[in-house]
Amino acid sequence: MTSTLPNDNIRNFDDQITNKLISEIIRDRIKNSGTRFSANDNISDFINPGELDILEREVASRVKDLLKSLIIDVENDHNTQETAERVSKMYLNEVFKGRYHEQPKVTSFPNDKNLDEIYTVGPISVRSACSHHLVPILGECWIGIKPGKKVIGLSKFARVADWVFSRPHIQEEAVMILADEIEKLCEPKGLGIIVKAQHYCMKWRGVKEPNTSMINSVVRGDFRHDLSLKQEFFELVKQQSATNNY
Ligand SMILES: [Zn+2]
Repeated sequence: MTSTLPNDNIRNFDDQITNKLISEIIRDRIKNSGTRFSANDNISDFINPGELDILEREVASRVKDLLKSLIIDVENDHNTQETAERVSKMYLNEVFKGRYHEQPKVTSFPNDKNLDEIYTVGPISVRSACSHHLVPILGECWIGIKPGKKVIGLSKFARVADWVFSRPHIQEEAVMILADEIEKLCEPKGLGIIVKAQHYCMKWRGVKEPNTSMINSVVRGDFRHDLSLKQEFFELVKQQSATNNY
């Protein structure tokens, strides 16, 4: 038997033919299409129905190996007996769901009334993890819009933000990716995003600075060209964030 499978439970019909791990099969598809698959990319287009369950079993098997390498007695320590399965499920379906699951459905509507006043939405929760250590990045985000030809419901901004942030990230790139997605959805005349977050790789480990946060922003379209509009955006966000202490 020349199988490279960590255990026999993670076979599927593809494996029977190719003798490959499901992660290898998906990775090959992505590579063959010439697409990037960095930690903060969404790869759901390359995962067929049913394959995520198989991937979940493969990841659990690998996490179990990690625990064993950490010399944790997963056989007898009742606290860690199912940790591998929990961690796998958490990565694929919760904290990194923005990599493996499709974008939530967002319907846009024509801007019939030609609304052109800016508005801001926030704070929206930021729940992410750093690509370097896979520990949490937690904070808040504000989105400012000067509408263009299309509009989307307010709650949709939170759904899309959650989908984008639920991947391993560095904060600078997360803001850009969220801006790209919102531009695709509603093609605003102006767009501004501010993220303020605490990085647990600074709080929990490393320099162990418990109160340091990082703030960054991106402004596009009219927000970039029109200084008074940009100032109005930051002023509105200041009012929205006055009672928050991230
Ligand atoms: Zn880190």
